[in-house]
Amino acid sequence: RSDSFKNEIISNVSHNLKTPIAAILTYTELLKSCDGIDPAQQQQFVEIIDARARTLEDMVKSMILLSKIQTGATQIRFEVIDLEELCQDTIDSFRVLADKKNLTLRLTCTGEIPAVISDYEKLSTILSNLLSNAVKHSFPGHAVDILLSREGRSTSVTVSDTGEGIPQEKLKDIWERYYKVDKEHKRAQMGSGLGLSIVKNILDMHGGTYGVTSTLGQGSTFWFELPVAQQSPES
Ligand code: ADP
Repeated sequence: RSDSFKNEIISNVSHNLKTPIAAILTYTELLKSCDGIDPAQQQQFVEIIDARARTLEDMVKSMILLSKIQTGATQIRFEVIDLEELCQDTIDSFRVLADKKNLTLRLTCTGEIPAVISDYEKLSTILSNLLSNAVKHSFPGHAVDILLSREGRSTSVTVSDTGEGIPQEKLKDIWERYYKVDKEHKRAQMGSGLGLSIVKNILDMHGGTYGVTSTLGQGSTFWFELPVAQQSPES
């Protein structure tokens, strides 16, 4: 089992890394071979190399994080977190990316949102992965919404996009490591297929509840719940 697990990892890793590495090599060759290349085009090639190198960095970071979670090398460090502030910070970090697709990113709080108990870094990773997917799969010019609301002793977080959506029969598979709905698509090739697996593993470590609803051609809503930090009167 261990050997087949290793083989699966190696085959997925090599497949995922191949596309960005090929792009970096191609554009580096072009830069090296074109004397007197137009500066605007030169800049464009450098930007492509930069973007692909960042994709590789993200993939490697995801692989390391997932491996640490699955081997127990990283644990949840519970602390009290201001969820609203963390969501706002995450949204701010995605503004540049969202602007490129003319997307609006909105945070809405239903009532007062109490602090929650979670691990700051890991919760930040969950929100970033969900927001990154929502931005990636949204239709240009639409909005991505994060909604916070108190549900008894928990706080619920939903991330919704108006985008391509996910087929019903694939909804259970998207949490699996290396799973991609559309393997042939260029954009899918640039993903690691690990984002939602990391989200699932972290939420499982919390013992938290989570899920997704989606309508093909209309969009998806990912949600999870976290326990509130202290017993304050329920609204
Ligand atoms: P990736 O790095 O490839 O995005 P994920 O684990 O984050 O990997 O997601 C797995 C697959 O689930 C993606 O390849 C994509 O097909 C699908 N998916 C995830 N989030 C969304 C979304 N908001 N809208 C549509 N499809 C999504």
